[in-house]
Amino acid sequence: MTINKKIFLLFSALFIVLLSLIYFILKDRESSALEFENQVVKNKVNNLHNILMNKKKLLDNITYEYSTNEAIIKLINEKNKKDLFYDFSSKLDVSYFLILDNNKEIIYSEAYDVSSKEYVDISDSINDFFIQSNLSKYINNEELKFMTFDYERLIFSLERIDEIGYVFTARTLDSAFLSESSSMLDSYISFLPSYSFKNKKVLKGKFNYDISRADSKTIYINIEINDELLKNKFFLSIKLNREFFTEIIQSNKNLLKLFFISFLIFNLVIYVFISKIFTKRIGLISNTVKSVSKKKDLVQNIDLIYDDEITYLSSKMNEMFKIIREAQNEHIKKERDFLQSVLDSQQHIIFITDGTEIQSANKKFLDLFKTNNGFMNNIAVLDDTTKANLLKIAKKHSSIDKPARLKLHNNEDKYFVFDISRVEIRKYIICMNDVSKYNERITHLQNKASTDELTNCYNKATITEYCRYWIEMKDFGLIILDIDKFKNINDTYGHFIGDCILRDLAKLVSNGLHKDDLIGRFGGEEFIIAINANKNDLEAIANRIRILIEDNLFKYEDLELKITASLGCTYCRGGSEFEELFKVADDALYVAKKTGRNRVVYK
Ligand code: GH3
Ligand code: MG
Ligand code: MG
Repeated sequence: MTINKKIFLLFSALFIVLLSLIYFILKDRESSALEFENQVVKNKVNNLHNILMNKKKLLDNITYEYSTNEAIIKLINEKNKKDLFYDFSSKLDVSYFLILDNNKEIIYSEAYDVSSKEYVDISDSINDFFIQSNLSKYINNEELKFMTFDYERLIFSLERIDEIGYVFTARTLDSAFLSESSSMLDSYISFLPSYSFKNKKVLKGKFNYDISRADSKTIYINIEINDELLKNKFFLSIKLNREFFTEIIQSNKNLLKLFFISFLIFNLVIYVFISKIFTKRIGLISNTVKSVSKKKDLVQNIDLIYDDEITYLSSKMNEMFKIIREAQNEHIKKERDFLQSVLDSQQHIIFITDGTEIQSANKKFLDLFKTNNGFMNNIAVLDDTTKANLLKIAKKHSSIDKPARLKLHNNEDKYFVFDISRVEIRKYIICMNDVSKYNERITHLQNKASTDELTNCYNKATITEYCRYWIEMKDFGLIILDIDKFKNINDTYGHFIGDCILRDLAKLVSNGLHKDDLIGRFGGEEFIIAINANKNDLEAIANRIRILIEDNLFKYEDLELKITASLGCTYCRGGSEFEELFKVADDALYVAKKTGRNRVVYK
């Protein structure tokens, strides 16, 4: 796995851990916000209760005040309503002001609309409340009590007038009352037509309520209120703005955004840092190592950028490359020196070439030519067209009879023959033999009258001399050829025809030989042939010559003659004397004559 992948995995794991941590922190903040909100709700419900409680206390004071009022006591005693028209409600700012006698019969009643400041007709349903109820439980009761008259929700107070009747006051929970309460509570209060509790909360001795979180901005506190008359319930709702909660949610969102952005930036910075400090440099090192192992070229250096462990490693690798390179060079040098010493120890002149340039040469070569240039100038003279084609020159002058004449550094001329061995593609070892001495003698012989006048081939002295040098230089085949019964030809057709036959036979055999082979007249009708061939081929070559003669028709005017010859042959190796070898061949010839002529005998 690459470093980048590992780091990616590490950061992914880190990201998941941090994200879960952040998630729990944000969730905790959210639930704290909800907890706080619940507390705010509780306070609001408490405050509403206090507002209503104040109103109730006010009503209680009024009813108590009027239960002791003498005029009212007198009124009840006399049941004279007309004497008492007083506009209590408008003065006391209450919605209902009623006086009842002991029999719960209404003696005096006022219904007043506090918001329009007008008296209104009183409903009959109000009687029902007094008739049905056990009024004693509302007297001196400091708890909040509500009831509904003709759809009007009231908060009320009831007080006993000693033994003769009751005073009843009530305040309608109308829009004016609600808006006043709303402004006191700093939250909008309204009635709910109906409501079913989902998660009822109880504020002991006060209200049951439920929190309805309509959305992320608004919350409704729904309060349950007991109706004393209808034995039923009605509902008030307080609307709250969830400013704190919304703020927390928004701040959570911002925190999350901040986390993502910072993590992204952090990752980016780390990625660039890791890539620059580690990945790129390690890649560079591994590329260098790869290219070293591929090209086997140690001339590679890793850049040293920063002062750290990787740079230390790189510098150590550079040092290692240097040491290996030096050791390699040392090894190569030793090998080269060894090869050079082997070349130098050779008797022959040796050089290694690709065909156009001399790559290395031995001591003998340098002793003679001093520089490669000196030698190449010689080659250029020998080969005017292709200039320095060494192989072509070496092939051309590979035979002892065609030595190359080269000028030495001291301007002396020497003769050389070349021997080529290929060591690999376009790499050859060329060995040069100095044949100057031999060549001198050849030249000398060539200058002498060396040919036989009659047959135009070499005379006895020349062919003998050639054979002696060949014995020194190389192995070759020696053949002695003697015409059969030649005396008879002379005797029958005369000496002239005999001479003609000798001349024509020499020509016939010469033409049948390779250009490197030699032929010479040894005397009379006897010829010596020196053949450049393997031992195994010699007998076959001799037979070929024999058949050539046997098959030839010698024509002289009307005369047509056929002759044969006998051949004795041997193979010459260095170290023998010419006379000895000649004798062996001559003995073979003798056997050929003895055994019927026109044949070849090899000894
Ligand atoms: P074989 O070799 O088959 O035993 O018989 P031969 O007759 O060839 O051998 P021999 O040595 O008896 O005779 C050689 C003859 O060659 C003798 C001589 O007349 C002849 N001869 C030698 N030199 C010349 C020459 O220059 N010209 C001519 N025309 N004949 C020559
Ligand atoms: Mg003879
Ligand atoms: Mg003869």
